[in-house]
Amino acid sequence: LPPAAEFDLKAHIRGIPDFPKPGILFYDISTLLRNGPAWKAAMSRMAGKIRPYRPTMLAGIESRGFLLAAPLALELGLGFVMLRKPRKLPGETIGYDYELEYGTDRLEMQADAVTAADRVVVLDDLLATGGTMAASIQLLRKAGATVPAAGAMVELTFLNGRQRLDVPVETLVAYD
Ligand code: AMP
Repeated sequence: LPPAAEFDLKAHIRGIPDFPKPGILFYDISTLLRNGPAWKAAMSRMAGKIRPYRPTMLAGIESRGFLLAAPLALELGLGFVMLRKPRKLPGETIGYDYELEYGTDRLEMQADAVTAADRVVVLDDLLATGGTMAASIQLLRKAGATVPAAGAMVELTFLNGRQRLDVPVETLVAYD
């Protein structure tokens, strides 16, 4: 096996045109997840990139963000927190509403999931416009945590998502 740093992750991510609607090129990470060595290489590279931020916890954005954040948290020996679509989580929750191209959306987390002592790195599969990631960062801050960085497997650089974020963003592959 090649070392993680040299693994060709792009060879395991496919672009599916016109999904979920005409004009969108959907970057599908399912094919990467299906391949054990590719998934492992992606997770080791991401672990190396986020470890220097010294997180105390990782957060994943529903639902593909869970597929990065949960295994990475295990690898780094950290706890994992879910940022979910509305009304999915039991107990007291904190929410954050954000603007979409058409309409608004909302993310929620459990109110007692983090403390002011936590440094939470937030993860998703893909960074596009950055709207989802920006909302996740705001939600974690509303809950009291510090967010030292964000991470995504894939970055669509032409959408300038990282310019909307006030934290460093670590990504593994970029498309323009
Ligand atoms: P954004 O808020 O524009 O950065 O969009 C990011 C969210 O939408 C992530 O949760 C992605 O899973 C999803 N997403 C946006 N664009 C794409 C795309 N071209 N391919 C796959 N997922 C996408």
